Amino acid sequence: MYRKLKPAAIFTGTEMLPSGNVLITSEEGVIAAIVPEAEAGDDVELFEGILSPGFVNAHCHIELSHLKNKVPEKTGLVNFVQKVMSGRAADEEEKYIAMKAAASELFDSGTVAVGDICNTSDSLWLKQNSPMYWHNFIEVSGFTETGAAARLASAETVLDKFNVPYAKFSTLSPHAPYSVSEKLFGLLNEKTAGQLISIHNQETEAENELYENKSGRFLELYQNFGIDISSFVPSGKRSWPTWLPYFDKNQTIISVHNTFISQQDLSFAAFNEKFAALYFCVCINANLYIENALPPIGLLVENNVNIVMGTDSYASNWNLNMMEEVNAVQKYFPDISLATILRWATFNGAKALGIDQMYGSFVAGKRPGVVEILNGVARRIFY
Ligand SMILES: [Zn+2]
Repeated sequence: MYRKLKPAAIFTGTEMLPSGNVLITSEEGVIAAIVPEAEAGDDVELFEGILSPGFVNAHCHIELSHLKNKVPEKTGLVNFVQKVMSGRAADEEEKYIAMKAAASELFDSGTVAVGDICNTSDSLWLKQNSPMYWHNFIEVSGFTETGAAARLASAETVLDKFNVPYAKFSTLSPHAPYSVSEKLFGLLNEKTAGQLISIHNQETEAENELYENKSGRFLELYQNFGIDISSFVPSGKRSWPTWLPYFDKNQTIISVHNTFISQQDLSFAAFNEKFAALYFCVCINANLYIENALPPIGLLVENNVNIVMGTDSYASNWNLNMMEEVNAVQKYFPDISLATILRWATFNGAKALGIDQMYGSFVAGKRPGVVEILNGVARRIFY
Protein backbone atom coordinates (compact mmCIF):
# COMPACT_ATOMS: atom_id res chain seq x y z
CA MET A 1 0.00 0.00 0.00
CA TYR A 2 1.12 3.51 -0.80
CA ARG A 3 0.21 6.91 0.58
CA LYS A 4 -0.33 9.67 -1.96
CA LEU A 5 0.05 13.18 -0.55
CA LYS A 6 -0.90 16.27 -2.53
CA PRO A 7 0.07 19.55 -0.87
CA ALA A 8 0.08 23.20 -1.99
CA ALA A 9 3.80 22.72 -2.79
CA ILE A 10 6.51 20.14 -2.21
CA PHE A 11 9.89 21.17 -0.84
CA THR A 12 12.16 18.27 -1.84
CA GLY A 13 15.05 19.09 0.49
CA THR A 14 16.80 21.07 -2.24
CA GLU A 15 14.06 22.85 -4.20
CA MET A 16 10.46 23.99 -4.04
CA LEU A 17 8.18 22.29 -6.57
CA PRO A 18 4.95 24.08 -7.50
CA SER A 19 1.46 22.74 -6.87
CA GLY A 20 0.19 19.87 -8.99
CA ASN A 21 2.66 17.26 -7.72
CA VAL A 22 1.97 14.26 -5.52
CA LEU A 23 4.41 12.71 -3.07
CA ILE A 24 4.11 8.93 -2.96
CA THR A 25 5.46 6.99 0.01
CA SER A 26 5.11 3.54 1.52
CA GLU A 27 2.97 3.14 4.66
CA GLU A 28 6.22 3.35 6.64
CA GLY A 29 7.21 6.64 5.03
CA VAL A 30 9.82 5.38 2.57
CA ILE A 31 9.79 7.71 -0.44
CA ALA A 32 8.62 6.08 -3.67
CA ALA A 33 8.29 8.99 -6.11
CA ILE A 34 7.05 12.49 -6.83
CA VAL A 35 4.64 12.42 -9.78
CA PRO A 36 2.31 14.89 -11.54
CA GLU A 37 -1.23 14.76 -10.15
CA ALA A 38 -2.57 13.29 -13.42
CA GLU A 39 -0.40 10.19 -12.91
CA ALA A 40 -1.18 9.67 -9.22
CA GLY A 41 -4.43 7.73 -9.57
CA ASP A 42 -7.02 7.49 -6.78
CA ASP A 43 -6.96 7.94 -3.01
CA VAL A 44 -4.90 11.10 -2.99
CA GLU A 45 -4.75 12.86 0.40
CA LEU A 46 -4.91 16.67 0.22
CA PHE A 47 -2.81 19.04 2.32
CA GLU A 48 -3.18 22.81 2.52
CA GLY A 49 0.46 23.50 3.37
CA ILE A 50 3.94 22.71 2.01
CA LEU A 51 5.32 19.20 2.51
CA SER A 52 8.98 19.05 3.52
CA PRO A 53 11.37 16.31 4.64
CA GLY A 54 11.81 16.14 8.42
CA PHE A 55 14.13 18.69 10.02
CA VAL A 56 17.68 18.03 11.14
CA ASN A 57 18.49 20.03 14.26
CA ALA A 58 22.28 20.30 14.09
CA HIS A 59 22.75 21.83 17.55
CA CYS A 60 20.85 21.04 20.71
CA HIS A 61 21.61 20.20 24.35
CA ILE A 62 18.66 18.03 25.39
CA GLU A 63 20.18 17.48 28.84
CA LEU A 64 19.69 21.18 29.69
CA SER A 65 15.94 21.07 29.09
CA HIS A 66 15.15 21.64 32.78
CA LEU A 67 16.62 25.16 32.42
CA LYS A 68 13.53 26.27 30.45
CA ASN A 69 12.56 29.79 31.57
CA LYS A 70 15.31 29.80 34.21
CA VAL A 71 18.07 31.81 32.52
CA PRO A 72 17.44 35.57 32.09
CA GLU A 73 17.42 36.83 28.49
CA LYS A 74 19.78 39.24 26.75
CA THR A 75 22.45 39.47 29.46
CA GLY A 76 25.39 38.44 27.24
CA LEU A 77 27.35 35.21 26.93
CA VAL A 78 29.61 35.62 29.96
CA ASN A 79 26.66 36.04 32.34
CA PHE A 80 24.84 33.25 30.50
CA VAL A 81 27.66 30.73 30.91
CA GLN A 82 27.91 31.47 34.64
CA LYS A 83 24.16 31.10 35.07
CA VAL A 84 24.10 27.74 33.24
CA MET A 85 27.10 26.40 35.18
CA SER A 86 25.53 27.30 38.51
CA GLY A 87 21.99 26.26 37.57
CA ARG A 88 22.48 22.99 35.70
CA ALA A 89 22.31 20.68 38.72
CA ALA A 90 18.82 19.33 39.35
CA ASP A 91 17.28 16.15 40.64
CA GLU A 92 16.95 13.19 38.28
CA GLU A 93 13.17 13.29 38.20
CA GLU A 94 13.07 16.95 37.16
CA LYS A 95 15.65 16.39 34.41
CA TYR A 96 13.85 13.29 33.19
CA ILE A 97 10.49 15.02 32.85
CA ALA A 98 12.00 18.08 31.14
CA MET A 99 14.03 16.04 28.62
CA LYS A 100 11.04 13.91 27.73
CA ALA A 101 8.83 16.94 27.11
CA ALA A 102 11.56 18.64 25.03
CA ALA A 103 12.11 15.54 22.87
CA SER A 104 8.36 15.27 22.22
CA GLU A 105 8.25 18.92 21.23
CA LEU A 106 11.12 18.40 18.79
CA PHE A 107 9.55 15.32 17.25
CA ASP A 108 5.99 16.66 16.94
CA SER A 109 7.23 19.83 15.26
CA GLY A 110 8.96 17.80 12.58
CA THR A 111 12.51 17.12 13.76
CA VAL A 112 13.81 13.66 12.83
CA ALA A 113 17.52 13.95 13.67
CA VAL A 114 19.52 15.87 16.25
CA GLY A 115 23.17 16.80 16.77
CA ASP A 116 23.15 16.85 20.54
CA ILE A 117 25.81 18.14 22.93
CA CYS A 118 26.33 15.95 26.00
CA ASN A 119 28.30 16.72 29.15
CA THR A 120 26.85 13.70 30.92
CA SER A 121 25.07 10.48 30.01
CA ASP A 122 21.78 11.84 31.46
CA SER A 123 20.07 11.63 28.06
CA LEU A 124 21.11 8.08 27.20
CA TRP A 125 17.85 6.43 28.30
CA LEU A 126 15.86 8.96 26.27
CA LYS A 127 17.81 8.29 23.09
CA GLN A 128 17.52 4.56 23.64
CA ASN A 129 13.73 4.89 23.28
CA SER A 130 13.56 7.75 20.80
CA PRO A 131 12.13 7.62 17.26
CA MET A 132 14.65 10.34 16.31
CA TYR A 133 18.28 9.86 15.18
CA TRP A 134 20.83 11.35 17.60
CA HIS A 135 24.49 12.16 17.04
CA ASN A 136 26.03 12.69 20.48
CA PHE A 137 28.80 15.27 20.71
CA ILE A 138 30.53 14.46 23.99
CA GLU A 139 31.78 17.83 25.08
CA VAL A 140 35.29 18.41 26.38
CA SER A 141 36.43 21.56 28.16
CA GLY A 142 39.30 22.77 30.36
CA PHE A 143 41.19 26.00 29.92
CA THR A 144 44.18 25.21 32.13
CA GLU A 145 46.92 23.24 30.41
CA THR A 146 47.74 21.08 33.42
CA GLY A 147 44.28 19.50 33.57
CA ALA A 148 44.06 18.63 29.87
CA ALA A 149 44.69 14.87 30.03
CA ALA A 150 42.35 14.42 33.00
CA ARG A 151 39.56 16.41 31.33
CA LEU A 152 39.89 14.31 28.19
CA ALA A 153 39.84 11.07 30.18
CA SER A 154 36.71 12.17 32.01
CA ALA A 155 34.92 12.93 28.71
CA GLU A 156 36.01 9.54 27.40
CA THR A 157 34.21 7.81 30.26
CA VAL A 158 31.01 9.57 29.14
CA LEU A 159 31.75 8.57 25.53
CA ASP A 160 32.10 4.94 26.63
CA LYS A 161 28.63 5.03 28.17
CA PHE A 162 27.22 6.16 24.82
CA ASN A 163 29.19 3.51 22.98
CA VAL A 164 26.30 1.06 22.80
CA PRO A 165 24.45 -0.08 19.67
CA TYR A 166 21.45 2.26 19.88
CA ALA A 167 23.56 5.37 20.44
CA LYS A 168 26.80 4.56 18.70
CA PHE A 169 27.06 7.79 16.76
CA SER A 170 29.02 9.65 19.36
CA THR A 171 32.21 11.68 19.07
CA LEU A 172 34.29 13.88 21.34
CA SER A 173 34.01 17.61 20.68
CA PRO A 174 35.58 20.77 22.10
CA HIS A 175 33.18 23.09 23.94
CA ALA A 176 34.47 26.50 22.80
CA PRO A 177 37.73 28.33 22.13
CA TYR A 178 37.45 30.17 25.47
CA SER A 179 37.11 26.93 27.44
CA VAL A 180 39.63 24.61 25.77
CA SER A 181 43.41 25.00 26.19
CA GLU A 182 45.85 24.67 23.32
CA LYS A 183 47.04 21.39 24.81
CA LEU A 184 43.51 20.00 25.06
CA PHE A 185 42.83 21.06 21.46
CA GLY A 186 45.93 19.08 20.48
CA LEU A 187 44.76 15.96 22.31
CA LEU A 188 41.31 16.27 20.76
CA ASN A 189 42.80 16.62 17.29
CA GLU A 190 44.49 13.24 17.73
CA LYS A 191 41.38 11.59 19.16
CA THR A 192 38.95 12.83 16.49
CA ALA A 193 40.90 12.11 13.29
CA GLY A 194 38.43 11.60 10.44
CA GLN A 195 35.42 12.19 12.71
CA LEU A 196 32.53 14.63 12.97
CA ILE A 197 33.03 17.28 15.66
CA SER A 198 31.19 20.38 16.81
CA ILE A 199 32.37 23.58 18.54
CA HIS A 200 30.70 26.76 19.82
CA ASN A 201 32.47 29.51 17.86
CA GLN A 202 32.62 33.30 18.26
CA GLU A 203 29.36 33.54 20.13
CA THR A 204 30.56 36.83 21.60
CA GLU A 205 33.11 39.47 20.58
CA ALA A 206 34.87 38.85 23.91
CA GLU A 207 36.21 35.58 22.45
CA ASN A 208 38.15 37.54 19.83
CA GLU A 209 39.44 39.97 22.48
CA LEU A 210 40.71 37.07 24.58
CA TYR A 211 42.85 35.69 21.77
CA GLU A 212 43.92 39.03 20.34
CA ASN A 213 45.29 40.52 23.55
CA LYS A 214 44.06 38.60 26.62
CA SER A 215 41.43 41.17 27.43
CA GLY A 216 37.64 41.34 27.59
CA ARG A 217 34.90 39.84 29.70
CA PHE A 218 36.18 36.27 29.75
CA LEU A 219 38.87 37.33 32.25
CA GLU A 220 36.01 38.01 34.66
CA LEU A 221 34.59 34.53 34.06
CA TYR A 222 37.92 32.83 34.79
CA GLN A 223 38.31 34.89 37.95
CA ASN A 224 34.81 34.04 39.17
CA PHE A 225 35.44 30.33 38.65
CA GLY A 226 38.95 30.47 40.12
CA ILE A 227 40.57 29.41 36.82
CA ASP A 228 44.25 30.36 36.70
CA ILE A 229 45.06 31.71 33.24
CA SER A 230 48.54 33.03 34.04
CA SER A 231 50.08 30.59 31.55
CA PHE A 232 47.67 31.55 28.73
CA VAL A 233 49.50 33.36 25.94
CA PRO A 234 47.20 35.11 23.45
CA SER A 235 47.83 34.27 19.80
CA GLY A 236 47.47 37.90 18.74
CA LYS A 237 44.88 36.73 16.21
CA ARG A 238 41.13 36.47 16.26
CA SER A 239 39.59 33.33 17.74
CA TRP A 240 38.83 31.60 14.43
CA PRO A 241 42.31 31.64 12.85
CA THR A 242 43.67 30.59 16.24
CA TRP A 243 41.67 27.42 16.80
CA LEU A 244 40.74 26.21 13.30
CA PRO A 245 44.31 25.07 12.43
CA TYR A 246 44.36 22.91 15.59
CA PHE A 247 42.23 20.44 13.59
CA ASP A 248 44.27 19.04 10.73
CA LYS A 249 43.24 15.40 10.67
CA ASN A 250 40.41 15.39 8.18
CA GLN A 251 37.65 16.20 10.67
CA THR A 252 34.21 17.35 9.57
CA ILE A 253 33.54 20.43 11.70
CA ILE A 254 30.20 21.97 12.65
CA SER A 255 31.03 25.48 13.81
CA VAL A 256 28.09 26.68 15.88
CA HIS A 257 26.83 30.28 16.31
CA ASN A 258 29.57 32.25 14.45
CA THR A 259 27.81 35.39 15.62
CA PHE A 260 31.01 37.43 15.52
CA ILE A 261 32.79 35.80 12.56
CA SER A 262 34.24 38.19 9.95
CA GLN A 263 34.98 38.16 6.24
CA GLN A 264 38.66 37.90 7.13
CA ASP A 265 37.91 34.73 9.15
CA LEU A 266 35.90 33.19 6.33
CA SER A 267 38.65 33.94 3.80
CA PHE A 268 41.13 32.31 6.17
CA ALA A 269 39.02 29.14 6.29
CA ALA A 270 38.86 28.94 2.52
CA PHE A 271 42.67 28.67 2.33
CA ASN A 272 43.24 26.29 5.24
CA GLU A 273 41.48 23.14 4.24
CA LYS A 274 42.96 20.50 6.50
CA PHE A 275 39.42 19.54 7.48
CA ALA A 276 37.14 17.23 5.47
CA ALA A 277 34.19 19.62 5.49
CA LEU A 278 33.06 22.72 7.34
CA TYR A 279 29.46 23.53 8.28
CA PHE A 280 28.25 26.77 9.85
CA CYS A 281 25.36 26.22 12.23
CA VAL A 282 22.98 29.13 12.74
CA CYS A 283 21.04 29.26 16.04
CA ILE A 284 19.35 32.59 15.54
CA ASN A 285 16.90 32.47 18.44
CA ALA A 286 19.66 31.54 20.89
CA ASN A 287 21.73 34.52 19.69
CA LEU A 288 18.74 36.80 20.21
CA TYR A 289 18.11 35.24 23.63
CA ILE A 290 21.68 35.46 24.95
CA GLU A 291 23.40 38.38 23.25
CA ASN A 292 20.43 40.05 21.57
CA ALA A 293 22.58 39.75 18.43
CA LEU A 294 21.93 38.39 14.95
CA PRO A 295 24.27 35.91 13.29
CA PRO A 296 25.83 37.34 10.09
CA ILE A 297 23.74 35.16 7.80
CA GLY A 298 24.09 37.55 4.84
CA LEU A 299 27.87 37.25 5.09
CA LEU A 300 27.70 33.44 5.27
CA VAL A 301 25.43 33.33 2.23
CA GLU A 302 27.73 35.69 0.25
CA ASN A 303 30.63 33.35 1.01
CA ASN A 304 28.61 30.39 -0.24
CA VAL A 305 29.45 28.26 2.81
CA ASN A 306 27.46 25.24 4.01
CA ILE A 307 24.83 26.47 6.46
CA VAL A 308 22.90 24.24 8.87
CA MET A 309 20.52 25.16 11.67
CA GLY A 310 19.94 24.33 15.32
CA THR A 311 17.80 25.34 18.25
CA ASP A 312 20.52 25.22 20.92
CA SER A 313 19.04 24.38 24.34
CA TYR A 314 16.20 25.43 26.60
CA ALA A 315 18.76 27.46 28.56
CA SER A 316 18.77 29.90 25.64
CA ASN A 317 15.60 29.42 23.63
CA TRP A 318 11.85 29.83 24.05
CA ASN A 319 11.11 26.67 22.03
CA LEU A 320 12.85 23.58 20.67
CA ASN A 321 11.14 23.90 17.33
CA MET A 322 13.10 24.13 14.09
CA MET A 323 10.26 25.96 12.32
CA GLU A 324 10.64 28.80 14.83
CA GLU A 325 14.28 29.05 13.71
CA VAL A 326 13.21 29.09 10.04
CA ASN A 327 10.61 31.77 10.82
CA ALA A 328 13.16 33.92 12.68
CA VAL A 329 15.63 33.77 9.78
CA GLN A 330 12.80 34.78 7.41
CA LYS A 331 11.82 37.65 9.68
CA TYR A 332 15.32 39.15 10.00
CA PHE A 333 16.61 38.19 6.53
CA PRO A 334 13.57 38.63 4.27
CA ASP A 335 15.69 38.48 1.10
CA ILE A 336 16.54 34.82 1.67
CA SER A 337 13.96 32.47 0.15
CA LEU A 338 12.04 29.95 2.25
CA ALA A 339 13.42 27.15 0.06
CA THR A 340 17.00 28.22 0.86
CA ILE A 341 16.35 28.25 4.61
CA LEU A 342 14.51 24.93 4.51
CA ARG A 343 17.44 23.41 2.67
CA TRP A 344 19.70 24.38 5.60
CA ALA A 345 17.19 22.82 8.01
CA THR A 346 16.87 19.54 6.09
CA PHE A 347 19.31 18.52 3.33
CA ASN A 348 22.36 20.39 4.65
CA GLY A 349 21.79 19.21 8.22
CA ALA A 350 21.60 15.60 7.04
CA LYS A 351 24.85 16.02 5.08
CA ALA A 352 26.56 17.54 8.10
CA LEU A 353 25.57 14.65 10.38
CA GLY A 354 26.50 12.16 7.65
CA ILE A 355 22.98 10.72 7.44
CA ASP A 356 21.91 11.98 4.01
CA GLN A 357 21.53 8.44 2.72
CA MET A 358 18.33 8.26 4.82
CA TYR A 359 17.37 11.84 5.80
CA GLY A 360 17.08 15.35 4.43
CA SER A 361 15.39 14.91 1.04
CA PHE A 362 12.50 13.30 -0.80
CA VAL A 363 14.54 10.86 -2.85
CA ALA A 364 13.25 7.35 -3.62
CA GLY A 365 14.37 4.83 -1.01
CA LYS A 366 15.02 7.35 1.79
CA ARG A 367 12.87 7.66 4.88
CA PRO A 368 13.33 11.32 5.80
CA GLY A 369 10.03 11.96 7.60
CA VAL A 370 7.22 14.11 6.16
CA VAL A 371 6.36 17.48 7.65
CA GLU A 372 3.55 19.86 6.71
CA ILE A 373 4.29 23.59 6.96
CA LEU A 374 1.22 25.80 7.08
CA ASN A 375 1.17 29.47 8.12
CA GLY A 376 4.62 29.23 9.69
CA VAL A 377 3.76 26.17 11.76
CA ALA A 378 5.28 22.74 11.12
CA ARG A 379 3.75 19.44 12.18
CA ARG A 380 4.89 15.91 11.65
CA ILE A 381 2.65 14.03 9.20
CA PHE A 382 4.45 10.76 9.70
CA TYR A 383 7.82 9.28 10.13
ZN1 LIG B 1 25.15 25.23 22.47
